[in-house]
Parts: sequence; structure tokens; C-alpha cells
Amino acid sequence: MSRPVPNPGILDIAPYTPGKSPVAEPGRKVFKLSANETPFGPSPKAIAAYTEAAKHLEDYPEGTSRVLREAIGRAFGLDPDRIICGAGSDEILNLLAHAYLGHGDEAISTTHGFLVYPIATKANGAINVVAPETNFTGDVDEILKLVTPRTKLVWIANPNNPTGTYLPFDEIKRLRAGLPSHVLLVLDAAYSDYVSRNDYEIGIELVATTENTVMTHTFSKIHGLAALRVGWMFGPAHIVDALNRIRGPFNVSTPAMLAAVAAIEDTEHQQMSKTHTEKWRALLTEEITKFGLKVTPSVANFILIHFPLDQGKTAADADAFLTKRGLVLRALNNYRLPHALRLTIGTEEANLLVLEGLRDFTGSK
Ligand SMILES: *Cc1c(COP(=O)(O)O)cnc(C)c1O
Repeated sequence: MSRPVPNPGILDIAPYTPGKSPVAEPGRKVFKLSANETPFGPSPKAIAAYTEAAKHLEDYPEGTSRVLREAIGRAFGLDPDRIICGAGSDEILNLLAHAYLGHGDEAISTTHGFLVYPIATKANGAINVVAPETNFTGDVDEILKLVTPRTKLVWIANPNNPTGTYLPFDEIKRLRAGLPSHVLLVLDAAYSDYVSRNDYEIGIELVATTENTVMTHTFSKIHGLAALRVGWMFGPAHIVDALNRIRGPFNVSTPAMLAAVAAIEDTEHQQMSKTHTEKWRALLTEEITKFGLKVTPSVANFILIHFPLDQGKTAADADAFLTKRGLVLRALNNYRLPHALRLTIGTEEANLLVLEGLRDFTGSK
């Protein structure tokens, strides 16, 4: 008997596995440090805007997310006409793949790149080509080596998740210059708000001055609105136009849109979160290194911790040990990092418990 068959590529996709849901020993408070969520929640002003919007759930949203595009435009100095909003940046990434990739095309991502990229690539029948990284960092030369006449798109998270590393803007420009002009370069800036490096740029200038580069961003991280699903893209007019033709006509809900406007305007809340992250990122890196574990230097709101291969000391052992204490980190087997765990920077209380946990696990003083 015949039955419906999905398009080529779809059954090759390994389903996305989110950070696991916490189960700790009885009596332990649980800290979810596995999904790069902010420990502070959203701005109280965003919650107020969301609650206010609940009074009018019978109305369809304004379909172009105009008020949100204008608020983003003010915050970043961008033309709102060149912004498109989506149900999380995941939706935008999928729209990009849908618009620009087809059967037999190739899209390049890196060894430890964000898992949504290969999913979006394969969902459209295209081939996910993996460029090796150097020191857990994207390598422009390795990416350029893999370009063929079939290459249509390059995915780069800058900073990258789950490694926490970044490419300096000069490298991004070198990548753009080395790619054929018909290849779309996608810069995913989900964690840009946590970076404070002189050689880092989010990519606005490059997007504004080329016809083939886009930058995506999200309200799920520093703005603490992951549950509402809001993301956006800044791009050339012709790419924004293409995506507007294929997106759902009401793809961002009114409560999400209005909460996001309030969130982006609360710069004090963002600054508080950034300051906390910078302080604890440095402290956790330094202390965990003292326990004999390698930590990849991060510019984001999480750190990558590497574990030995010896029985009893592995990442899986550490994961089990910490989970019992209510500390839930992210295992990275499907990111080709089975020997590492990713730790999202939490509250002071959570961070101190992680240090105590890793001190005990490693038998350090
Ligand atoms: C968290 C994250 C996003 C955000 O996805 P949303 O769909 O906006 O929640 C995008 N890219 C990367 C690399 C991320 O880690």
C-alpha cells in the first residue's frame, strides 16, 4: 500500500534535541543551565506590555510587526523597511533556507555550528557541508575551500553556540570578500549583546553595503522572551521582500510584539544582565580552569567546559553528578562535542553551586 512520502532530505534530519528537563535529588532546588536563557527573566516592562495585550486576544496582529520593526530600527539605527520579524529567529532561518536553497544545492555550516542550520538546509533538499573549525572557532579559509558552483548559502553564528567563540569583523569581511556574490551569507547575532570586544561587530555595516549578506537576531537571549518566540533579520531590500512573500501573514503575535518593544527599550535591564554575565563568565572560567578542566574562552552568556576521557571523569559522568545536585547543563553529543558540557551563566546562587559541584566532582581543593 502506498502512503505519503516526505520530500527528499527530510528523513535524513536528526530531530533537534533541546536541553533536557531537570530531575534532581529530592529536596534540591533545580537550576536549568542548559538552554542559554537569561536567569533574570524579561524586563518588568515587557511583562506589563504582554499582560496589557492579553485584553485584546480576539484581534489579529498587525501583520508587518511595524511597531517592533520601528523599535528595533531606533535601537540599532536601522531602516525599519529592511527589517523582518519572525516567530523566533528559527523561523527567519527556515524562511531563508526555504527561499534560497533547493534540491541539490549546498549550504556550509561549521563543525560545531548551531543545529538549526543543518535542519533548515536539509528540510529544503539541500546538502549540509561541514567546514572544520580551528580551536573551536569558525575558520574562514576552511569555509572558502568548500565553496563549489552549487554553494548557495553560508551559516555563521557570531558568537557561535555552543562554543562561545567569535570571529573578528575583519575575518567576516574576508569571508564575504572570498565568497561568490550569489552566495548568501547569514550572520546569526543571537549572542551579540554579551560581547565586548573591540574587534567584534554585529555586521550591520556589511549588510548595509552588500546585496548578499543578512544578520539575524533574537529576543530569546538577553531580552528573556524565549517563550514568546520573537526574532528578526536586517537585510538587503530584495531579500526582505522575498521573505515577506513566503512568511505567514500574522507570524508574530501581538503580545509577543508589544513585549519585545518594551524589552528593547529597557536598556537598563540589558546592561544589568550584560554586567552580571561578564563578571561571572570571567570568574567561572578562571575557577573551573583551576580544577584542571579546560574552558574555551567565551564571549557569550555560556561557557564550554571540556572533560577528560578517563572513566569516572568524563563529561557524561560530570553531567550525571551535577544533575543530581539540581544543576542541569547541556550535553553536546549531537554537536560533535561528546567530551564537553555547555554551562549557561546563571544567578550568583546557581554559579556558586556549579563551582562547588565541579570542585567536588574533580576532587579539587
Ligand atoms: C538561541 C539561538 C537563537 C535564537 O533562536 P530563537 O528561535 O530566536 O529563540 C538563534 N541562533 C543561535 C545560534 C542560538 O543559540
